[in-house]
Amino acid sequence: MDRADQGAGDADLRRIPFAKPDVGPDVLDACRRVLESGWLTTGPEVGRFEQDVADLVQVPHAVAVSSCTAALEIGLRCLRLPPGSRVLTSTMTFSGAVHAIIHAGLRPVLVDIDPATGMPTAETTWAARRRAGGADAMVVTHYAGHPAAIGELAQGAGLPPSRIVEDAAHALGARIDGRLLGGESAATCFSFYATKNLPIGEGGMLTTNDPELASAARRVRLHGMSDDAWKRYLPGGGWRYEVAEDGLKANLTDLAAAIGRAQLSHFAAWQELRTSLASAYDARLANIDGLSLPARPAAGHAWHLYVIRVEERFPGGRDGLIGALAEGGVDCSVHFIPIHHHRYFRPLLEGARLPGADRMFRQIVSLPLYPALGLEGVDRVSQEIRARINGALR
Ligand SMILES: *Cc1c(COP(=O)(O)O)cnc(C)c1O
Repeated sequence: MDRADQGAGDADLRRIPFAKPDVGPDVLDACRRVLESGWLTTGPEVGRFEQDVADLVQVPHAVAVSSCTAALEIGLRCLRLPPGSRVLTSTMTFSGAVHAIIHAGLRPVLVDIDPATGMPTAETTWAARRRAGGADAMVVTHYAGHPAAIGELAQGAGLPPSRIVEDAAHALGARIDGRLLGGESAATCFSFYATKNLPIGEGGMLTTNDPELASAARRVRLHGMSDDAWKRYLPGGGWRYEVAEDGLKANLTDLAAAIGRAQLSHFAAWQELRTSLASAYDARLANIDGLSLPARPAAGHAWHLYVIRVEERFPGGRDGLIGALAEGGVDCSVHFIPIHHHRYFRPLLEGARLPGADRMFRQIVSLPLYPALGLEGVDRVSQEIRARINGALR
């Protein structure tokens, strides 16, 4: 091995990945317990996980599903809107969130965002509503874990809270007026995808105050069968079930629920760590010419993502910065490619322009942010950024 190879090996060892889920020995124990129980699919462990999440967010009903994408589709279906109804959604979101609207038989209407927060304002929401000739529902996305101003957005959309579904894929642990998110709208949808702040691998949860919506969601998540159809496989369970309506195959497994429950026992400590790492980024990246830091609510940010914005005059722009950081051993990402930049979704624009999202997309870089990163990780990432930007923008 020559010196160059050696050097590359060292850089790889010290490489900071964009995401790194924490999985401790308690997760392995929980998996073994479920695997040995003889019950692998939806069962008692899912019920316990639902109760744990309901207790955490202090909302009476939690329905576990296979993903946040499925939770969004199920939440929207349970609004019982006529086919083709108009659903407002931020264009600065994950593509699955828009597929969910389409798969629910509804029509997405894209809303522009404020580049400072990555979220719609009452004004951009109103503009989208006017463009579509009205709105029947809205998906509100808590971008990066920053709690969205649901009341203002609902007002801009001209909709009551019962027509709002929240995309809280980034926002387990986020707070509005001191209360954890989960009961502000018809349905709040969480993600337990591998990179999210409660990582299971795959999984989601819908929370709601509405008992009827909760029981409809339980049917829709499993083939439209009566609520407790899964029990037919339990000892003593009958073979008969009834399909009451259209439904998905989107139930969560007991194995996933057991992982989720083990992970939940660390959640409060992880959130504290995320918050202190975000503050450390704020301090170490302050006052760099050409760089903007994430907007901060007064309180209640869940800090799933830490998204900086670099001015276009940086050589090579945003992509130039991501490339330079990768050379320095720091992997970053971009959240999100705006929905209207995807070929498939482009027709949704119907000729409109969404300049806030276009501008933000040219500038955004999501930095590594997870408990295992530690302050040393924040220091290294921040030093790389400071060195690259100071060298380039003088
Ligand atoms: C990750 C994500 C989703 C989808 O979550 P899954 O659990 O992977 O389906 C939806 N919306 C946003 C904003 C996301 O970041």
